[in-house]
Amino acid sequence: MTGIVYKSTGSWYTVKTEENQFLECRIKGKFRIKGIKSTNPIAVGDVVDYELDTSADVTVGIITNIHDRKNYIVRKSVNLSKQTHIIASNIDTVFLLVTINNPVTTTSFIDRFLVTAEAYGIEAVLVFNKIDTYDEAALDEQLYLQYIYSTIGYKCLRVSAIEGKGIEELKSLMKDKVSMFSGHSGVGKSTLVNALEPSLNLKTKEISDSHSQGQHTTTFAEMFDLSFGAKIIDTPGIRGFGVVDMEKQEIGDYFPEFFALKDQCKFNNCLHKEEPHCAVKEALENDDIAWSRYKSYIQILEGEDEHYRSDIYGD
Ligand code: GDP
Ligand code: ZN
Repeated sequence: MTGIVYKSTGSWYTVKTEENQFLECRIKGKFRIKGIKSTNPIAVGDVVDYELDTSADVTVGIITNIHDRKNYIVRKSVNLSKQTHIIASNIDTVFLLVTINNPVTTTSFIDRFLVTAEAYGIEAVLVFNKIDTYDEAALDEQLYLQYIYSTIGYKCLRVSAIEGKGIEELKSLMKDKVSMFSGHSGVGKSTLVNALEPSLNLKTKEISDSHSQGQHTTTFAEMFDLSFGAKIIDTPGIRGFGVVDMEKQEIGDYFPEFFALKDQCKFNNCLHKEEPHCAVKEALENDDIAWSRYKSYIQILEGEDEHYRSDIYGD
């Protein structure tokens, strides 16, 4: 029998069965997944096979197998640097909430987020929230950002969580999919989720406000079914999108508009910096690539020596 993990406490896993029942499951013995070193063998979003154990008063499930993950996001423990915790898996779309003011979301933050999403292999969508507050300057800036990001292939939505604008379009993108929401504290994540599903009160906010990044929290991610046929993963205490290590050479591949030009650079290992006949630099000079994107790229490239560690947190 097969089901999906909706919640995990570390020793118990709540699995939704094909009959839409929730079943408490355990793991059988030592359960290891090849190639992944993590503190938790099973995460929210995992598709698992299970057997029923009817030996006790209450029937429980025993997880016997986990299906291949299409993707997963991790958090590296700050204290035990080698330990990786898998936050969630099999995510279809991650929505980044962006606000022009209160709080300001910078292009550098957006680009780091998008790079991480690309590295994880998860579709990212930009949701510009609080459009009801725009003055002319904010509108100008938002339309410019939308131009930059939609040109390179990212879907952009304009919403007002408070006024309920753009919510239907967002719902249609979420339908039949597993979604996550990210963005700085104060961009309107809780308000937006409330606009999507008033009865659902996610914990994202209160916990992210009371714990600092380095502190260990005992909260776990959880998946919820929304009434319009969507699934959402809430990650209390995690505030964001995990951490990913990448080689310098890889970083440009996670900028889709750079990647598209890569074959036209003279050197196949071109870092698009000082190299001669670099197609990316040429596109930049011709205004076919946005300077803000190139600036973010250089920041990420020079962020660390061997590896760049991209931390995408909500705050
Ligand atoms: P979170 O920290 O991302 O969960 O943000 P909240 O949902 O708590 O929202 C932060 C503040 O922004 C609250 O005061 C909300 O009422 C306000 N807010 C959220 N969405 C909107 C919006 O679309 N328009 C306006 N004007 N305010 C909003
Ligand atoms: Zn180049």
